[in-house]
Amino acid sequence: MATTNDGVDMSEACADCGRDTPHTVSVQIQTESSKTENAEFSREPYRVSECRVCGETTSTRMNNA
Ligand SMILES: [Zn+2]
Repeated sequence: MATTNDGVDMSEACADCGRDTPHTVSVQIQTESSKTENAEFSREPYRVSECRVCGETTSTRMNNA
């Protein structure tokens, strides 16, 4: 899987921690469809933030932002 990892540090709210915590934010291309014939059309960029305190990850699709 092609992965672009920017590794940007950002402070964001974490639901698990219940407060703002440092997050590692990266962008990953994820394939949503299991149909290989349409795979190249269904890869969506996701913004993935990982809490550096508890390790909780949150993925947000960027296309609908
Ligand atoms: Zn957390």
